[in-house]
This record gives sequence, structure tokens and C-alpha cells, in this order.
Amino acid sequence: MGKFALADAELSKVMICKRCKARNRVGATKCRHCGYPYLRPKRKDIKVKK
Ligand SMILES: [Zn+2]
Repeated sequence: MGKFALADAELSKVMICKRCKARNRVGATKCRHCGYPYLRPKRKDIKVKK
């Protein structure tokens, strides 16, 4: 959980196309933009400087 709980919740619902990087819903089997079937979850654990 990051600093912004709401943002975390929203990011966790997003999948990113590995080809065109369009946002897709979680549960999508293909990119809605280009039809590419390989999606990744949007990165949530980006390291931050202290
Ligand atoms: Zn795509």
C-alpha cells in the first residue's frame, strides 16, 4: 500500500498492453486498442527516494 490508497486501488485495476501500452481493464484477455494478447499489471511498487 502506497501513500494514496485510492490511487493504489485504481492502479491495481489497470493492465497495460506490452505492445502499445494502452490501459486495459483487469480481466481483459486482449488489448482493446491493438488486440495484442499479452498484458501486464500496471507497476505499483515503484521505488521512491527517501
Ligand atoms: Zn495494445
